[in-house]
Amino acid sequence: MIILIIGPPGSGKGTQIEKIARKFELKHIPSPGDLFRKIGDEEVKKYLATGRLVPDELVTKLIFKEIEDADNFILEGYPRNLEQAKTLDNFLLEKNKKLDFAIYLRTSEEEILKRITNRRVCAICGKNYNLITNPPAEDGKCECGGNLVQREDAKKEIVRERMRVFREQTEPLLEHYKNKLIVVDGEQSVEKVFEDICRKLKD
Ligand SMILES: [Zn+2]
Repeated sequence: MIILIIGPPGSGKGTQIEKIARKFELKHIPSPGDLFRKIGDEEVKKYLATGRLVPDELVTKLIFKEIEDADNFILEGYPRNLEQAKTLDNFLLEKNKKLDFAIYLRTSEEEILKRITNRRVCAICGKNYNLITNPPAEDGKCECGGNLVQREDAKKEIVRERMRVFREQTEPLLEHYKNKLIVVDGEQSVEKVFEDICRKLKD
């Protein structure tokens, strides 16, 4: 089975993908960002060091290396635009494989903002908190005594910009994959979202 998961930042893709991969015994292909960190590719390092965007071609090359020999896998964060989707379609066709499902975690911008802007991280030990779903025992303090801070990418303007990019670049994939699309309400609890995904994958 070959699946990909689509959702705006903060929709819970990472959590769901781990659960799906475990249950359906799929290879979990890391998102491009995680892949860059994992492989430490020299070419990639050049881009990251200068803050430039890693070009599509290089991203595609790295992802394809991961999926080349796999028959059962799940993708996250790739493809992130129509062009990448078409490249992936062609690659799978060449390898006599096909995408079975595209799962979309539908989540409103309001909910995303609420989730991400409430994230806090300990400046000392790196433990994550959420002021709503997982608040610290003492205001502004980690259990280790460190101060809780808001990461740069959890700030409202940054989240809004990432949402805009998602709508512009990634949302067209929903139309592209409309025959394989599974839409799940991403605003439910983690367990309920997972339950819905499993039910629809089995149908
Ligand atoms: Zn801490």
